[in-house]
Amino acid sequence: MDAAVKALEEQLAEERGVLNSLKESLKRLDERLQIDRATVGTADKQRNDLHIDIRTMTQQVEHSREKLNRSRTERETNAAQRELEELRKLIRDREDEITRLDTDTASVRTAVETTEAEHKRIVEELAAKEGDIQAKVGKLEADKSERGGGRDAIVKRLPPVLYRRYEQLRGKRGTAIAQTSDGTCNKCNMALPPQLYHRLRREPLIEQCPSCNRIIYFAPPTEATPTGPVD
Ligand SMILES: [Zn+2]
Repeated sequence: MDAAVKALEEQLAEERGVLNSLKESLKRLDERLQIDRATVGTADKQRNDLHIDIRTMTQQVEHSREKLNRSRTERETNAAQRELEELRKLIRDREDEITRLDTDTASVRTAVETTEAEHKRIVEELAAKEGDIQAKVGKLEADKSERGGGRDAIVKRLPPVLYRRYEQLRGKRGTAIAQTSDGTCNKCNMALPPQLYHRLRREPLIEQCPSCNRIIYFAPPTEATPTGPVD
């Protein structure tokens, strides 16, 4: 009974481990997304500022054109033309800057999309696993209380000294009960002293294995199951 509960708990711990590693991956993806989104955000802001600059300069170009049309001396014409050229160059520089920004952030934007897809996949896997594990926890708890009820009744019937020894051994070794069918302890595989083995065979006795201290009793070979008896 205790071995069955222990096996369930181990299985549960393993499932929780899977769950935790998924949560860890999710955390790493969140961190990466945060950094990449910040990069994209900064680039978008710069891009926006550059567009505003271009709009302002385009208006100034109109001004300069009017000035050029109104110019009456060669000096005025030259000045207006220089202004126009200067403004066009400033606009070109900003357009180049936007192209550069777009090129630089293209890979980050792609990375954000990839990470978001991965994030979504793990969230879904986690949701499915959590549901699965919730069901397992429920079953385990039901099993434990069901078995626990029966266990209490058995414990009441055991001599307190024996029960204390059982619990001590179970805490120290995981399992407290061993059997022998052939003169060796089936838990630690050590040979029992012949006298002890004969005594165990002769009468229904409960002893302790001298090597591992587990509570040991004789189980006729025909009753032994191939996978080892259940405690
Ligand atoms: Zn033993």
